[in-house]
Amino acid sequence: MSKIVFFCIPAHGHTNPTLGVVRELICRGHEVFYYSYNMMREKIESTGATFISCDEYDQEQRLDAKDGARIGKDLAFSTQILVDTILALDDAVCEHMKGLKPDCIVADSMAVWGKIVALKLGIPFVSSTTTFAFNQHSARIMKQSLGQMFGMIFSMSKINKNIKRLQDKGYPVKSVLDIIQNDNNTDTIVYTSPEFQPCSETFSEKYVFVGPSIRPVENMIEKKSDKLIYISMGTVINDSTEFYKKCIEALANTKYQVIMSVGNLINIEDLGAVPDNITISRFVDQIAVLSQADVFLTHCGMNSVNESLYYKVPLVMFPQTSEQDGVTTRVEQLGASVRLKHINAKAIRETIESVLNTKSYYEQASKISQGFHKCTGAKGAADKIEQMCKCSQINTQMRKSRI
Ligand code: UDP
Repeated sequence: MSKIVFFCIPAHGHTNPTLGVVRELICRGHEVFYYSYNMMREKIESTGATFISCDEYDQEQRLDAKDGARIGKDLAFSTQILVDTILALDDAVCEHMKGLKPDCIVADSMAVWGKIVALKLGIPFVSSTTTFAFNQHSARIMKQSLGQMFGMIFSMSKINKNIKRLQDKGYPVKSVLDIIQNDNNTDTIVYTSPEFQPCSETFSEKYVFVGPSIRPVENMIEKKSDKLIYISMGTVINDSTEFYKKCIEALANTKYQVIMSVGNLINIEDLGAVPDNITISRFVDQIAVLSQADVFLTHCGMNSVNESLYYKVPLVMFPQTSEQDGVTTRVEQLGASVRLKHINAKAIRETIESVLNTKSYYEQASKISQGFHKCTGAKGAADKIEQMCKCSQINTQMRKSRI
């Protein structure tokens, strides 16, 4: 039996793909400890893992609205908050790791505090990447991420001061890239297929493309008409009441059944009268809906896209961030869906109908789905983590036999 520690950020899209892997590891007899945030406690504990809360250390949650808006845009400031978070967690996590002696740390590519604790303490490390894996080749698809890298270079002097704070605490990092970037030597689990990942052939054998980790449907939903349209902007940037109103205007009293998931940030009453063919919820069992849907109007979060294509459901894509724009570009390249070009009721309805009426989108979505089904899934990810644990145990035995 091995002891494995997971680290993740407080986002459903980054947490959900790991849950099947955690379940699989526990099923194989391993012990899993999962550092995350209280909002994820229930779903993490439901896997059988031991949940450890990071909430009291989170520096981002303490920011006022003005500074909160700087995260992700102002790179020097973002690095400072990141380093504050790492240092706030440092004592508690390092002490826990020294007592626990885990065989492996698995950290989300954005939960960089897990990665650098592994580096500092010499614990075998696996990166868990719920977006596309990133290198100079795949970066061509994620153009804006390159732009952000240039921004980073210009804010380097402020960033370096923060790197020094980490070095003073014993972290072996030379630059911010050591923290945020994985190279070809980092063992990495990517939750998509090699066919969907741009330039997958340019990544080393340390990368495993295990495909999306699709959780089981919990309660089947009832399909009430021939075509079911699902609309969701995910769980993070989902507060555009105006956009939802345009969707309602576009699809009100049509022959279509429409399910809209609108999240927790808007006032549902502000959407006005909702016609009978449209159901509005704050959160739905997305897998259950997609298993029945005919088209998905989405923000193109990586998980939503993976889940949709897994069920051969083409998309109308309305990306909100550069990462989502990269995913959109990839789906367009593969001919499986279309981008929403104008945000008005007429365009929304016409784009949705153009997808519903075009066979090739369904054929291409099916092709991607076949690629996903060929992947090794949670079992493949668990195999990768077990391999790392075995290497760690062999190294420990060799060290002991030398003493
Ligand atoms: N999700 C869900 N029900 C909802 C909305 C979202 O179950 O009503 C899940 C969805 O299945 C996916 C995750 O939340 O696994 C959203 O992740 P994604 O990467 O698509 O977007 P994010 O929310 O991180 O922007």
